[in-house]
Amino acid sequence: MASFELPQYPNSYWRELHSLSSFNPANKNMSTDVLIVGAGIAGVTAAYLLAKDGVQVKVIEGSKIASGTTGFTTAKITAQHGPIYHQLIQTFNEEKAKLYFEANQNALEQVKKLVKSLSIDCDLEERHAVIYAETEEGKRVLHAEKEAYDKLEIPSDLSSAIPTLPFPVEETLSMLNQAQFHPVKYVSALVKEAQKLGVTFHEDTRAMKIKNGDQITVELRDDLEITANKVLVTSHFPFNDEEGLYFTRLSPKRSYAVCAKVSNIDLDSMYINVEKPTRSIRTVQGPNGEQYVLVGGEGHKVGQHTEKTNEYYQTLANFAKQHYPVESIDYHWSAQDYATLDQIPYVGQTMTGIPNVFVATGFDKWGMTNGTNAGFLLSDLCQGRENPYEELFSPTRSKMKTEDAKNFLKENANVAKELISGKFDRPSDSVDDLKEDEGKIVMIGNHKTGAYKDQDGKLHLVKPTCTHMGCDVNWNDEERSWDCPCHGSRFSYTGKVLEGPAVEPLQQRALNGDTI
Ligand SMILES: Cc1cc2nc3c(=O)[nH]c(=O)nc-3n(C[C@H](O)[C@H](O)[C@H](O)COP(=O)(O)OP(=O)(O)OC[C@H]3O[C@@H](n4cnc5c(N)ncnc54)[C@H](O)[C@@H]3O)c2cc1C
Repeated sequence: MASFELPQYPNSYWRELHSLSSFNPANKNMSTDVLIVGAGIAGVTAAYLLAKDGVQVKVIEGSKIASGTTGFTTAKITAQHGPIYHQLIQTFNEEKAKLYFEANQNALEQVKKLVKSLSIDCDLEERHAVIYAETEEGKRVLHAEKEAYDKLEIPSDLSSAIPTLPFPVEETLSMLNQAQFHPVKYVSALVKEAQKLGVTFHEDTRAMKIKNGDQITVELRDDLEITANKVLVTSHFPFNDEEGLYFTRLSPKRSYAVCAKVSNIDLDSMYINVEKPTRSIRTVQGPNGEQYVLVGGEGHKVGQHTEKTNEYYQTLANFAKQHYPVESIDYHWSAQDYATLDQIPYVGQTMTGIPNVFVATGFDKWGMTNGTNAGFLLSDLCQGRENPYEELFSPTRSKMKTEDAKNFLKENANVAKELISGKFDRPSDSVDDLKEDEGKIVMIGNHKTGAYKDQDGKLHLVKPTCTHMGCDVNWNDEERSWDCPCHGSRFSYTGKVLEGPAVEPLQQRALNGDTI
């Protein structure tokens, strides 16, 4: 495959081009009415709404605000989540499929309202969301989806007219008047508003453990703790995942994006294809009038990449170059999101019997609306208010349907395979085989070791066993990280937790193979 020049390290356009306020880590025991764990779009939306209603709120963030998937999204704000509605009618019924649409369409309207009422400068632009089909089979999927739209009275347009895409397509299905924005500008504006209303934020403050009782205690590092009447777990993958067995019900999916500088392209909508591999396309307006096209896709289960992760970027960069007048690929990044067994996120009480701990997860790459909806829903639940979407999103929702059970078995069989696979392999490489800026599993004596040699030739050695449930981690060459193929935890090359569910770092190893 022809290679395209990418920046040396991945970084998100959204995070690089917007500076955020920074907050001190928690350094003493505290108490609050509501504690929110995780400051992505879900947690920050909930924090702002609760504070607006006069509730006392603290937010802790394990890393930096919007440094999770919210800072690495493609940021289409739409209720068109691929061809989902036909599927939802099959798995549930028309009533539930309609509620799902309404919840997400309402979330889009709420984003627009907040942007207007708070004068948020976040490059919000109205756009139609369009699914395109390139094959006869794809057309059949679109027709079934259009039928579902009509049943649910979703304003839409099925068309074989040529869209503003630079390649031939068979047909398109548009959901009208959706939107796109700059997610980090949006979230950081909500943080500022929440602060004005009295919310306190602490970054680099990871929740390690939760203890339930009349008051809930969240344990942090260094024997610190925060007590709260209610806790909202918006940490993407719930850090308290044993409660409610979320690790058996969530599938971590990673995917890639490139942001290419282009000139004079005409792209009036946000696009996604119906076939595989996924191609998600939108424009981005740079701060000085530059124009970018953002192309996403090439997903796979976290830690289960079949090629070097750089290749996924190259494929997307080549796609952009093939179809657009690309001047340069200025940004590239990857991120992950979690799918539930039945495609509907889990938002609400974590599990039966624990009334004051709530969770929001499983947005399946549609968290701009689902995360916003979660913020509103959690704010209502916390205040004992009714919400029309409570039952639909309830994590404790009723019996597994046949399709969910199949997904459950498939997902957990895959985890079981990953738990065992590799455990008895003996890699043939040694530390001496490593080139600069290369990582791999090597043997040091009798110890399997994750080794990375940095640009300056310094070695970083870790025990390659995920601290969540003991799966072997795999090297991700472009992110320079160790990724767990079971539940999606990721660690830096020094072993630091990058994303959960793991909360403990990988153990470091010395050159003689001992753990440090
Ligand atoms: C490549 C890609 C493209 C996408 N594109 C779209 C799109 O176009 N439209 C759309 O609607 N959705 C999209 N999504 C999905 C969307 O971006 C996510 O669903 C959403 O950002 C998730 O928000 P969140 O608040 O739940 O999680 P996050 O943004 O990940 O926030 C969770 C926060 O919790 C923190 N945290 C984790 N563990 C702890 C702990 N133990 N203690 C304290 N803090 C902790 C993390 O550091 C993080 O900052 C995309 C996803 C991907 C992967």
